[in-house]
Amino acid sequence: MLQYPHLEQALKYHFGYDNFRPGQRQIIEDALQNRDLLVIMPTGGGKSLCFQLPALIKKGLTVVVSPLIALMQDQVEALRNNNIPATFLNSSVNPYKVRSREEAIRNGKIKLLYIAPERLLSEKFLPFLDLVHHQVGVSTFAIDEAHCVSEWGHDFRPEYRQLKSLRRRYPGVPTIALTATATDRVRSDIIQQLGLKQPSIHLASFNRQNLYYEVRSKSKTAYAEILALIREIDGSAIVYCLTRKKVDELTFKLQNDKIAALPYHAGLSDEERVKNQNRFIRDDVRVIVATIAFGMGINKPDVRLVIHFDLPRNLESYYQESGRAGRDNEPSRCTMFFSYSDIKTIEWSINQKTDPQEQLIAKQQLRQVIDYAEGTDCRRTIQLGYFGERFPGNCGNCDNCCYPKPLEDWTIEAMKFLSCVARCQEKFGMLHIIDVLRGVKSKRITQYKHDQLSTYGIGQDKSVDEWRILGRSLLHQGLLQQTNDGYSVLKLNALSWEVMKRKRQVFIVVPVAQKISLVEGTEKAVQPELFQRLRWLRKQLADEQSVPPYVVFPDATLRLMAQIQPQSLAEFAQLSGVGSHKLAQYGKKFLGEITAYTQEQGVTPQQNYTTASISAEKKIFTTPRDTELITLRLHQEGLTVAQIAHKRNLSPSTIINHLSQLMAKNQPIDLNKLVPLEHQQKIWQVLEVLGDISLTPVKEQLGEDYTYDEIRLVREKWRRKNRE
Ligand code: ADP
Ligand code: ZN
Repeated sequence: MLQYPHLEQALKYHFGYDNFRPGQRQIIEDALQNRDLLVIMPTGGGKSLCFQLPALIKKGLTVVVSPLIALMQDQVEALRNNNIPATFLNSSVNPYKVRSREEAIRNGKIKLLYIAPERLLSEKFLPFLDLVHHQVGVSTFAIDEAHCVSEWGHDFRPEYRQLKSLRRRYPGVPTIALTATATDRVRSDIIQQLGLKQPSIHLASFNRQNLYYEVRSKSKTAYAEILALIREIDGSAIVYCLTRKKVDELTFKLQNDKIAALPYHAGLSDEERVKNQNRFIRDDVRVIVATIAFGMGINKPDVRLVIHFDLPRNLESYYQESGRAGRDNEPSRCTMFFSYSDIKTIEWSINQKTDPQEQLIAKQQLRQVIDYAEGTDCRRTIQLGYFGERFPGNCGNCDNCCYPKPLEDWTIEAMKFLSCVARCQEKFGMLHIIDVLRGVKSKRITQYKHDQLSTYGIGQDKSVDEWRILGRSLLHQGLLQQTNDGYSVLKLNALSWEVMKRKRQVFIVVPVAQKISLVEGTEKAVQPELFQRLRWLRKQLADEQSVPPYVVFPDATLRLMAQIQPQSLAEFAQLSGVGSHKLAQYGKKFLGEITAYTQEQGVTPQQNYTTASISAEKKIFTTPRDTELITLRLHQEGLTVAQIAHKRNLSPSTIINHLSQLMAKNQPIDLNKLVPLEHQQKIWQVLEVLGDISLTPVKEQLGEDYTYDEIRLVREKWRRKNRE
């Protein structure tokens, strides 16, 4: 029997969601019983809701400890958009505002307070909190990013250790600790360091089913592949590089290819970094190219693609970084590029470390990353295994499961390779062996008289890369060994001899040449026009309030709107993601856009489900729709936008929409009639600099004298020129 039968109703009312995600309900029930809790859930699992909903149900104030200012602000903005009384206090808030916020808290008008640990524990704030506790009551402490208490985590913050003192000061107030870091060590550290009392521990699976994982070899086509991947998606992407230099180079290239991209690394000023990050979050640009400095504290739920252009440091970081894709549970892609020369670079930097223990750990971690990259098993099995989670494989959503690579019998080659190792007396590394096999003429080879060996030059039919793949595969399969003292000398073992005596066959995974445009995992769904229009409306509404678009509605909700096409507010309210407040705030506007669309289409919404209209919808992309043709005719007759709108009883924005669609479809629209020439030129110039970007930044550049409509129309023409 459900102990709290009305939780689903509260969820729908406040957040608009119909169902809890796995684990959420149980956690919330425990929280409502005032238990201490440790919640370990992967990124995107929906941790915030686990303390937000109880905060609304319980009496008093929930204090949320959060380490990052940007994150606090985002969360509070999202909550406020659901009309939930939340606020934050940190160094970015001016004293005047601090006072008014504190007053609201004291008067019990705030349910959730986000605060940084050092402020919370300051001598000034604690007496205030005492007062609040006395007057309205503190219902819970929620410690977000709780792994920060642990030196074993990846982001230790000493201030977090002091949080334990809250237990003494407020013994009756329960604590909820939340993290996405899964290792055992961090887990027990959190319990101990925060002094959790018999906490109820919730460990969710770390399997992120919506993410497609793949590894590609970093060949000459890597850039073209990145470009194709970015063009493929209809949303945001993060590209991680190892160095600032690479970040800058790649950003430049992408901008050159008309992708709206911005850099992010430690070499930029704080101001610039914040600006770039914000423009990314607000969907002004689609791509951020970054060093790993970027991402902590990024809460953007609709990132569709995370690319690692260079090898990550270890599997845990890879999991966390790639995990920034698809936090909203929508299909997203994680691509890692892998090359042998990267390994060399990383090995070199590991060898620079002075602490031998650190060196050893770094080497082990690198080994695991390489095993992952070279592995032919399900990527999930390897990743989840790293967190101690058993996964049976065959996930159906990784490259190895979707495109198992063919095995080939390379026994003869293996025999050649291993006997060459033997002839060189097991004193050399892989590159030297390959040189001997390929009959390279070098001083080193003559010096050791290796050009006189029987294996000299017997492997000219294979490339260096092919031999290297074989060599690595032999190591992997345990048919060969390698010393670990920094020299990586190849050594034979009993199995090597079995191969050489033809007692054992050797199969290796054949390297397949990379295709440039791979649309493997996530199929690009044709986004219906309505969806695009709703996105456009969402962006406008978001810009008006200076919040990120996802705060208005998540992608999933927009997609539902486009599919179901509700015709009344009551129908609209049913959609997942539409809560009471958003219904009131945005319902009419979105409904208006949907109705306008269906009327222009001249179809009833149900008809949209038939195959006939699906093919009609595809046609939209090439030939103009009837309603657009009417607008075209009136435009050609010399009517202005306002006149056409009036005549057709449609809104001017609909007419602008028609006109830009018509331009996109190569119809003869006379831009000079719509936008003054000098405006056209100026807008054009800005587009040349900024690339294919959303309208807001262009408008920012141009200022008050230019309208969104003008920019939109000129952008259409500019796009057409770039397509040609
Ligand atoms: P985490 O902090 O675990 O990374 P968030 O709390 O930011 O995850 O939630 C990730 C996304 O999932 C957010 O966009 C949130 O609104 C959404 N979400 C959370 N719970 C639900 C739910 N029950 N149904 C649908 N979406 C949800
Ligand atoms: Zn798999």
